[in-house]
Amino acid sequence: MQKKVTILGGGESGAGAAILAKSKGFEVFLSDKGQLHQKYADILTSENIPFEQGQHSEDRILESDLVVKSPGIPDKVPLVVALKEKGIPVISEIEFASRYTDAKLIAITGSNGKTTTTLLTYHLLKTAGLNVGLAGNIGDSFAWAVAEKHFDYYVLEISSFQLDNIVDFHPYISLLLNITPDHLDRYGYDFQNYVNSKFNIIRNQTAADHFIYYKESEVIVKELEKRNPPVGKVEVSLDNVLGSGSYLKDGELISNINGNAFAQAFSELPIKGPHNAINALAAISVAQLLGISAEQISEGLTSFTNAPHRLEQVEVIGGVTYVNDSKATNVDSVYYALGSFDQPVILIAGGVDKGNDYSQIEELVGKKVKGLIVLGKDPAKLENYFSGKVPQIYATEDVQDAVNKGREWGVPGDIVLLSPACASFDLFKNYEDRGDQFKAAVRNLLT
Ligand code: ADP
Repeated sequence: MQKKVTILGGGESGAGAAILAKSKGFEVFLSDKGQLHQKYADILTSENIPFEQGQHSEDRILESDLVVKSPGIPDKVPLVVALKEKGIPVISEIEFASRYTDAKLIAITGSNGKTTTTLLTYHLLKTAGLNVGLAGNIGDSFAWAVAEKHFDYYVLEISSFQLDNIVDFHPYISLLLNITPDHLDRYGYDFQNYVNSKFNIIRNQTAADHFIYYKESEVIVKELEKRNPPVGKVEVSLDNVLGSGSYLKDGELISNINGNAFAQAFSELPIKGPHNAINALAAISVAQLLGISAEQISEGLTSFTNAPHRLEQVEVIGGVTYVNDSKATNVDSVYYALGSFDQPVILIAGGVDKGNDYSQIEELVGKKVKGLIVLGKDPAKLENYFSGKVPQIYATEDVQDAVNKGREWGVPGDIVLLSPACASFDLFKNYEDRGDQFKAAVRNLLT
């Protein structure tokens, strides 16, 4: 008898899982409590995959042999609780996809830097001529790629939500950049739950696999000491010279792994700031573990273009540089963004606060920020926290008004930086929309 798979959630990862399940001979049903994007509804229809939207038919779903849950759906929703009570396995899309590929998996996670590091790692492998796919939180979903393509390697951007429901997911190389408080609303406001979720990435790794991590992350190092996993460890450091591993010294990216040596000046790369040195060292470590030559790594590093909305320079107007870092949706990324500039900064921040603790950036803000513009529906928390700690604060709900205030305060040499520390949903569709509107508002200054 055909096994029944239900896919919960019909976005990129759910639609991909449905297509993969169908191609593997399952009887597939997709259920989404919201409305499907027309694009996915059309694909499911043309593939003859039954689906529902606007509701979950519980009775039908509780008859499944297996449920693949999209990462956006929390474990605590009643339907998922009921499935688990009935003993029906609920897995994530990356778990499902990984069961149907022999490719070597390179899985990248962290609270910040995932996209940059995933894109850069993919670019290095591709430049070196490997048959490599890019999937996960960026581009195609992993399941979709596995259903339709064949690769020897996958570079996967993995969120903690995807890691929450894995069983056998087994990367050859895993990479953990940092763990700082984020998404705590999904983890019962308990940081350890979030740490555990991130550490799921090494759960099935053995001594034949590799785990690359940032050595200056106290959280990672403590957790590693506690767990003492068998996986081969590769350290990345900004502060220490390492006998084996990858580190930054006197502006040079240096990597010594498996007897392979690599060195290149960080200033030759198109990505800037200390956080990007970590990301670059991590990506170089992957390339070194796969035996890619120093020449090819260097070629890839210099020809890389990062995705937009990450410390993206927009324009220089009247000597003031406008920078779009709309992707900075938590406090840690603002810490690194501020650390990337020596010039005085006019900081535009605010939006939906996910339980932020601003003490981490208090000192840097005091040193570097000459004016704070709070852009959001509820400015009180930021205003109260930084009142008396920065020379001037202005609150607005209008992005053009925020940019105009930046121009009013800015003098030649200053940076006007959109690095919000918050999600964007109060005023914008998403962080891309926020970044695009910011860039348009900046360019309006030119007319
Ligand atoms: P993610 O996909 O994890 O959200 P991105 O690569 O999109 O990460 O970067 C998001 C923001 O996080 C960037 O705008 C930057 O400010 C910050 N960031 C990038 N890399 C790091 C890092 N290694 N450590 C801390 N912050 C980082």
